[in-house]
Amino acid sequence: MRISRLRLTGFKSFVEPTELRIEPGLTGVVGPNGCGKSNLLEAIRWVMGESSPKSMRSGGMDDVIFAGTETRPSRDFAEVALVCDTEGAPLPGLVAAGDGDALEVVRRIERGAGSAYRANGQDVRARDVALIFADAATGAHSPALVSQGKVAGIISAKPQERRQLLEEAAGIAGLHVRRKDAEQKLRATETNLARLADLLGDME
Ligand code: ATP
Repeated sequence: MRISRLRLTGFKSFVEPTELRIEPGLTGVVGPNGCGKSNLLEAIRWVMGESSPKSMRSGGMDDVIFAGTETRPSRDFAEVALVCDTEGAPLPGLVAAGDGDALEVVRRIERGAGSAYRANGQDVRARDVALIFADAATGAHSPALVSQGKVAGIISAKPQERRQLLEEAAGIAGLHVRRKDAEQKLRATETNLARLADLLGDME
């Protein structure tokens, strides 16, 4: 999967709709301090499902919405769309076919009302988005996205954290998300079975 386009509207300093085409090969982002370079990487992590405001350098998630300046009023929503080329890889069952090999994931946040996600125009859950990107060996917490200070963090990482890096590289991170899902379902089923046994006991 290859990121081919990033669209931002009202996200942090990107108040006006802004679209960036990311061509194959190496892409560099250059600009003066404070022009929004890190905001771009944060937008990618955010649309992939980042849920921690702290790792978005924010106090609360609403802080990713353009806060206004002396000359421009604040906005009530922010939206980021990430268009990827699946390069022939199958889309997860829950995602409808897009335009050719395109997968478009959109996250939108309304002030005071939280976030909603769409994948190829269909409403999906944050968990579904996490799975889509985990299967593609990337995601909001993937070591594929290296933010400032992350390199030093990797050098001093604990063995368990290093193992996560290797698992990401091996492309099995999605299996962990599915295992967690399966374990939750198993626990819910066990609770239901125990309740059923109680009810049957009462009826005898
Ligand atoms: P550096 O080169 O110093 O690391 P940078 O180019 O990575 O800088 P960013 O950190 O991405 O810059 O952008 C910081 C800018 O984004 C600041 O000017 C800050 O005011 C602005 N900003 C962050 N959040 C918001 C927001 N919610 N609304 C408006 N502007 C915001």
